[in-house]
Amino acid sequence: MNCKNHPERPAVSVCPECGHGLCTECSNSRGSLLCADCRKTKKAENIASSIGYLVVFAVLFFVGYKLDFLPSKSGGDQSFLSGYILVALVTGWQVFNSLLRNTVFVFSADTAWLYMLLKLIVYIVTGFFLAPVVIAWNIVKVFYHSLTYTSIR
Ligand SMILES: [Zn+2]
Ligand SMILES: [Zn+2]
Repeated sequence: MNCKNHPERPAVSVCPECGHGLCTECSNSRGSLLCADCRKTKKAENIASSIGYLVVFAVLFFVGYKLDFLPSKSGGDQSFLSGYILVALVTGWQVFNSLLRNTVFVFSADTAWLYMLLKLIVYIVTGFFLAPVVIAWNIVKVFYHSLTYTSIR
């Protein structure tokens, strides 16, 4: 097999994503195993998913803010908190999804609802503390991937 980008050179590695051969120059660029096309695709996917999350956060915050579903006993700005809790739920979900991507929990059908409830609580609690970090992280990711996108050859 020869390099995908340089048909005259022999391939020294194979892109794990598309299976095309890569020569020394192409496989060593930026320490990535993926070929340039696949790196671009991955980056575009990363940008899209981060923007997607940011849009979801904004929409949820707006919805929560408008619904103002918390029982307001103490007065104060409960609508802000309502929005924040909805955002926390999704940020928690994003954190756990990226951390436990390959983890499979086994629950019986009887305890499935309990598991769902437990997950929901864990997401909200985690997200409550991590939401600002996760939002900032998504923004950084969009900027970083956008800036480096054009430099991939
Ligand atoms: Zn590839
Ligand atoms: Zn090459």
